[in-house]
Amino acid sequence: MQYASTRGHATAQNFSEILLAGLAPDGGLYLPQSYPQVTQDELNAWRSLSYAELAFEVLRKFATDIPEADLKALVEKTYTAEVYRNARVDEDASQITPLRTLEDRNGRKLILQALSNGPTLAFKDMAMQLLGNLFEYTLDKQKEELNIFGATSGDTGSAAEYAMRGKHGIRVFMLSPHKKMSAFQTAQMFSLQDPNIFNIAVEGVFDDCQDMVKAVSNDHAFKNQQKIGTVNSINWARVVAQVVYYFRGYLSATTRNDQKVSFTVPSGNFGNICAGHIARMMGLPIEKLVVATNENDVLDEFFRTGIYRVRKSAETWHTTSPSMDISKASNFERFIHDLLDGDADRVAALFRKVETSGGFDLSGKAGSDGDEFKKVAKFGFQSGKSVHADRLNTIRLVEQKYGITIDTHTADGIKVALEHIEDGIPMIVLETALAAKFNETIQEALGRDAERPAGFENIEALPQHFTVMAADVTQMKAFISAHTML
Ligand SMILES: *Cc1c(COP(=O)(O)O)cnc(C)c1O
Repeated sequence: MQYASTRGHATAQNFSEILLAGLAPDGGLYLPQSYPQVTQDELNAWRSLSYAELAFEVLRKFATDIPEADLKALVEKTYTAEVYRNARVDEDASQITPLRTLEDRNGRKLILQALSNGPTLAFKDMAMQLLGNLFEYTLDKQKEELNIFGATSGDTGSAAEYAMRGKHGIRVFMLSPHKKMSAFQTAQMFSLQDPNIFNIAVEGVFDDCQDMVKAVSNDHAFKNQQKIGTVNSINWARVVAQVVYYFRGYLSATTRNDQKVSFTVPSGNFGNICAGHIARMMGLPIEKLVVATNENDVLDEFFRTGIYRVRKSAETWHTTSPSMDISKASNFERFIHDLLDGDADRVAALFRKVETSGGFDLSGKAGSDGDEFKKVAKFGFQSGKSVHADRLNTIRLVEQKYGITIDTHTADGIKVALEHIEDGIPMIVLETALAAKFNETIQEALGRDAERPAGFENIEALPQHFTVMAADVTQMKAFISAHTML
């Protein structure tokens, strides 16, 4: 299996070669040259597999240059009940992503698939934990080292740190805005005492942190010398690890391959639902892929109108589902590539236009950049939007009707799913975080605290390990150099 850039101008590479890469050299994103297909026989055989066995079957189609025995061992180490132990008391942790039927009435079935039972209580663990093991394996083989440098406002940074802690050959330097994360998220990251994890609290806002990451990334000499890499959501291995749970969800919710299911996905950077799109392109019988956004509705606007209009930082809302607060969706280019039948020159032109004029228009109306919006339905995509008041209502409704507490992002998903559910086709909503992470809003909705999984009771009281720093790139580089000396 070879990978090429969505913009066409990068030499084809294999899975291991793009594992540690971010953008392709031409500014595009990597995609396989064609999507591997699943047969009916495979689907039947996969129904009885464990999560780890299923992950191996899916991943071996993409990571063809990793010896199968090695891949199998990596996957088995990643997807264990021990790692996904934060399941609710009535869930089976060994399922890794257990399904719960919320409602099955008048032919309408609403199912929740829990992706948030890993170490940081958010779905990013599903992919990041695999990435940690893949990175360590690859670096060991190459006798190489990697210094991961990133910025976070919450979920991504903690998922990366918990995936990379204690791994040889890897250090993590993670910037976060000083005193701007929730107490729980701060405690999750800063209580790590592993010597390869460096938390840097920047005196500024999230954009200042991101600007520092950009400045370091643009200094190619420094980047090469210090072996700097990233783990952001465009990483191909992260996307492909997420394909697995769409297979798991489908296979658990059906008994025969002529049945279909739909998925609703709380979305921000379009990484999660892009994996659903890939599963569908591989032949998984998915009827609809419903994009759920919050007030930051860039994606909902596109899927309603065909117009992609990115927002400026100042126009981005700070919402109570903060992991979906994006101004542009970094994985969206992968879908546009497929929507345009792989026409790399047009993809390149459209995304150059995003840089120069803030977006593009595929509505087919006079003066637009194309009419491919009419093909969106063929790919199963639909969308909807949810705002703070909807989140509160949905959290209350789910507690009253089904007796469980959901987080704010999952609430956005359920609100939108209920607008798209159809007779005879189960609707699976992906649960992307546990409520404990967003307790402030649970308090507002329910007047009580969210339950915390065992072991998290007093996390805020643990000793914290971090360095406060001004938003100063020179100081940042000196810090990295001082801590990467062999
Ligand atoms: C990251 C995140 C999302 C958005 O996922 P994308 O892949 O960026 O679309 C949704 N919910 C939670 C809790 C997240 O952490």
